[in-house]
Order: sequence, then structure tokens, then C-alpha cells
Amino acid sequence: MSGQRRQEIVIVGGGLAGASAACVLGRAGHSVLLLERDPEPRHKVCGEFLSIEAQTYLAHLGIDLDLLGASRISRLRLFHREKRTETDLPFLARGLSRKALDEALLQRAMALGAEVARGVAVRTISSEESSHQVDASPFGTVHADSLFLASGKHDVRGARRPTSGSMNDFIGFKMHYRLSEEQRAALDGTIEIILFDEGYAGLQLIEDDIANLCLVVTRQRFETIGRSWDSLTEQIALECPPLAETLRGAAMLFDKPLSIFQIPYGFVHRPDTTEPQGIFRLGDQIGVIPSFTGEGMSMALHSGCLAATTYLRLGRRSTSFHQQMAADIRGQIRLAFLLNKAARQHLGQAAIFHLCRTWPSIMRQVASFTRMREASMQRALVPP
Ligand SMILES: Cc1cc2nc3c(=O)[nH]c(=O)nc-3n(C[C@H](O)[C@H](O)[C@H](O)COP(=O)(O)OP(=O)(O)OC[C@H]3O[C@@H](n4cnc5c(N)ncnc54)[C@H](O)[C@@H]3O)c2cc1C
Repeated sequence: MSGQRRQEIVIVGGGLAGASAACVLGRAGHSVLLLERDPEPRHKVCGEFLSIEAQTYLAHLGIDLDLLGASRISRLRLFHREKRTETDLPFLARGLSRKALDEALLQRAMALGAEVARGVAVRTISSEESSHQVDASPFGTVHADSLFLASGKHDVRGARRPTSGSMNDFIGFKMHYRLSEEQRAALDGTIEIILFDEGYAGLQLIEDDIANLCLVVTRQRFETIGRSWDSLTEQIALECPPLAETLRGAAMLFDKPLSIFQIPYGFVHRPDTTEPQGIFRLGDQIGVIPSFTGEGMSMALHSGCLAATTYLRLGRRSTSFHQQMAADIRGQIRLAFLLNKAARQHLGQAAIFHLCRTWPSIMRQVASFTRMREASMQRALVPP
């Protein structure tokens, strides 16, 4: 397989951002090679909460969430210590594991004509004005006229993100559980958000009645409590007794939790007119919104669709795409960054909880300010 190859479009990474771009470009008849590091579908750290915007993109790309068994979520329950408040979501959300979702989108990209090479890790990228050289093991060297960089949180040598200024001391964890029938019924149709010292967690059902617990905590707190998943969940359960109730006796479905370190919350790529053209940054490579918004996946899908439609209209002019993308997501990421900062301290959490309990509609308002705008989505959703 190794050697030299020339290719019109190379996509690095087969997550939501890369696969969505591959779908749009493949459907338009372009020659696309997508390189994905993982040889097989796998679980990823994610709350697995699909906002209405994410659902719109997925439907546009031909993904049927009902067929994949996604759960339905219409209520939000917020916990702080032993207190709780509840409100309707402004839309019907869905819950689906990333393992199932990412695989469905990759399969869709292949069906639309993209060539997908799995188990191929891109080691370095070097860019010149007219082409980009991709060194991929064990594939060899690929010379790409255009490169779509969608490697998520993993930076590739030669094209690293400058993430200074972002809040990167959070660690993310995910665990799937099998609940008792009573616990499942209590959680059905609801996403629970639990505020705890120096972090927060989300709990919801996904397909097959599995419960997904996904949380972020500062590295400092994690170290203070002994750097272990068991002591972390014990501490959170002590701070929030209702969570302890929901998970009492529940069976963990992974041997150990999935984790991710140094999430650069607040990062937005700064477009630069001197950057080489024909390299499009997608998903977490262009912006990282704090997880509590449940909007990261829709931003990843938006970036993939918008980059592809920009390419179809303007060719290799990637700076135009980066400028439009920054305008589309900067405001939402800034607001979420400030809220995330407030939510890491006990006092900030208490104030947020008090406001939400007094005016439950405030939760819907904040959610609307951190979501993708209709006009931005229209630009990315070209007719099939
Ligand atoms: C704790 C946490 C909870 C979250 N919860 C939610 C939520 O509930 N709802 C929501 O909408 N968003 C959520 N998000 C955000 C969401 O997970 C991300 O925004 C989204 O996954 C970004 O998609 P992506 O395609 O850019 O990256 P990824 O999904 O990370 O995909 C990148 C792909 O690139 C591949 N890759 C990496 N390096 C290479 C390489 N060198 N060569 C080849 N392939 C490579 C990887 O294997 C991977 O498949 C959450 C994020 C975190 C951290």
C-alpha cells in the first residue's frame, strides 16, 4: 500500500466533521480520499446529546436516527447538591452513541463515493501554495490539491492549533451503564445536568436503553481526590445524592472509563490571509465549544458541510471558509466559555442554579444563544 499518490482532496479524520465533508464532496462527484486512524468503530468521549441543529445536518446527509435507535429527550433536569429544577427543552433532542453515529456517517460517505482508508494515521503535513503533502502510515505519501483537516482534538505535526488563551485544564470522562428498569424509567426522556465542585456531568439514555454519563472536571480537582474514576464518582455522588440514586447498582459497560485530557475550551482558529490556500480546518480543529452546550457536534457537522460547499463554489479558497466559520461560531463559543468559567466555582454554580430555578426559561434562552444560527446553517445546507 505504501508509495506516492496524487489526490484532488484528502480528508484527515473520519469523525463527524471529516465524514460530513466527505458526504457532500462525494455526492458532488469529487474524488475524495479520507484517512482515519482507527481501524474499527470505537467509543469516543462525548455526552452523545444531539441538538436539533445536529439532527438537521444529519437528516440532510441522509442519516436516519430512528433507524439507528436514537433515544428521545424533551426535558432538562438541573442538579446542584441535593436541589433540582426542571424545564422542557425548546426542541426534541436525541441520544445516540458516537460509535454508532460516526460509523453510520462514514458508511454514508462511502456510499456517496468517498474512498475511506481505515487504520491510517497521518503523521505529518507540509503545505505549499499549490499542494499539501500528507505522510500517512502505512499508506505512504499523498500529494493533495486540497486538504480537509478533521483530526478532532489530535493535532497533526506541521499543522498544530495555536490554542493559547483557551481553558485547557479540564479532563473529560465517559462511562456507559445498564440501569434497573425503575432507574431507566426515571431517566427516560430527560437529560440530567449535575453541577459539582470544579466540574459538571451529563446523564441521558442513548440507544438500547443504555445510560451515558459524561463529565468534565478540572485536573486539579481530579488530582486532589486521588486520580481515580471510583473516587471521582464517589465524590460526585456525595455532593449530589440524586445522582447516587440514579446509578446505585447500575452495571458499568466498559472496563474503565474513556478519558480525554486538555480540552481547549474557547479555541477558535484565527483566519490569516497569509495562510496557504487549500487547507480547510474542520470540527475541533477550528473551534471548541464547552461541552455543557451540547452543540459541539452540530458545529463539527456545520464545518464539514460549509467547507465542502465553499470548495464547490470557490475551489481552494480556504481563508474565505475560515472567515465565515469564525463569524458563525465565535459569539457562541465566547459566551459558553464565560459560562464555563463561572460554572467551575462553587459560588458561580450556586448563582447559576438559583437563576435557573427562579426563571427556568433562562435555561432555554442561554441555550438559544449558544446554538448555530439559522442563517449560518442555510449557507452550509446546499440542496443534494
Ligand atoms: C466531554 C465532552 C462532551 C461532549 N458532549 C457533547 C454533546 O453531548 N453533544 C455535542 O453536540 N457535542 C459534544 N461534545 C463535542 C463533540 O464531541 C466534538 O465537538 C466533536 O466530536 C468534534 O468532531 P470532530 O469530527 O472534529 O472530531 P472527532 O470526533 O474527535 O473525530 C476526529 C477523528 O480523526 C481521527 N484522527 C485523529 N488524528 C488522526 C490522524 N493523525 N490521522 C488520521 N485520523 C486521525 C480520530 O480517530 C477521529 O475519528 C463533547 C465534547 C467533550 C470533550
